[in-house]
Amino acid sequence: MRRNQTLGEYLHAQGVSRRGFLKFCSATASLMAMPPSAISQVAEALATARRPSVIWLSFQECTGCTESLTRSHAPTLESLIFDAISLDYHHTLQAAAGTGAEAARMAAMEENAGKYILVVDGSIPIGNPAYSTIAGVSNLDMLQEAARDAAAIIAVGTCAAFGGIPHANPNPTGAVSVSEIIKDKPIINVSGCPPIPVVITGVLAHFLTFGEIPELDELGRPAAFFGQNIHDRCYRRPFYERGQFAHTFDDEGARKGWWLYELGCKGPTTYNACATLKWKVWANCPRS
Ligand code: SF4
Repeated sequence: MRRNQTLGEYLHAQGVSRRGFLKFCSATASLMAMPPSAISQVAEALATARRPSVIWLSFQECTGCTESLTRSHAPTLESLIFDAISLDYHHTLQAAAGTGAEAARMAAMEENAGKYILVVDGSIPIGNPAYSTIAGVSNLDMLQEAARDAAAIIAVGTCAAFGGIPHANPNPTGAVSVSEIIKDKPIINVSGCPPIPVVITGVLAHFLTFGEIPELDELGRPAAFFGQNIHDRCYRRPFYERGQFAHTFDDEGARKGWWLYELGCKGPTTYNACATLKWKVWANCPRS
């Protein structure tokens, strides 16, 4: 994408039709629980948006969050939109390395001060800053430095949002979430292990459209995506209603797609949009 190209121009150049674009805007507005009247506003804002600068920092993570984005069934419109943002710094995806990469991060922060979106995956070790460093800078210092001039922060994945696996007892690195460190910036927790790409692009689309973060629930997650538990929307729900359960992974019930509660399903207590968006996650869904 050329630097001065709008998102609309970029998508058009990639062969996305106006109809396809409006369909995406309509789906995004609906997923974000916006009224139908907001669709044209979303479309206009996204079509004319200039590529926002995004700085992506990866701390104590497994790269699963990035893998989930890059391996979503491409080329989807949401993946194209993700391509269209100016991903100025991303450890895994950037071509630059060493001092060149750090110079790119500093330049992006300086040129877009107050306007860039900071995305973080992975938790931050505060037990000893030396547990995880990038270019000799501790994760804690890099987060605080990059957060200073960010417009908003998206904590992607359960590790960044709530500490995740590194935070599990006995938490040898003293891992904490982004919101336990940064207190003066809007933070959107897009939890999930890994998180759903459409939720990330939905949050970005909302920010580009309205210039502010979407409504959040009490855990800082976008309420539109995390308002319902997976069980309520799961395609196995009718089997639950009829009392048809699988008891082992290879019994008749499992073969027929019956309810998996006895096999560890956490759907009734997990709030996310997996069932609505047909997203499989390996950490909380025995269907995977
Ligand atoms: Fe990996 Fe899950 Fe943590 Fe993402 S949230 S970094 S997928 S363990």
